[in-house]
Amino acid sequence: MTVQQEAPTGGAGQAGEPLEVWIDQDLCTGDGICVQYAPEVFELDIDGLAYVKSPEDELLVEAGATTPVPLTLLQDVVDSAKECPGDCIHVRRVSDRVEVFGPDAE
Ligand code: SF4
Repeated sequence: MTVQQEAPTGGAGQAGEPLEVWIDQDLCTGDGICVQYAPEVFELDIDGLAYVKSPEDELLVEAGATTPVPLTLLQDVVDSAKECPGDCIHVRRVSDRVEVFGPDAE
């Protein structure tokens, strides 16, 4: 039997735990790998650095700005964090802000 996962309206992790992602622009190299993986979540600004976007597609340029990770995009966001040359993509649980993917994940 095939079990289909339904995407929740908010961000969600592997166990349905809401996740959010942020970028440390101080370490961003501007190569755009994250934008290739998940253009719905990441975008390069005119300063050449990557930023997260809100669910309404608005670029969030404040330092440490976070955006929810939709379940349908979780793998793309995790791959971005893994491949990020700057090690500056941080995915964390919304509930306790513990990093689950990224350079500070345990
Ligand atoms: S993959 Fe990392 S270093 Fe490259 S643009 Fe995205 S955030 Fe910056």
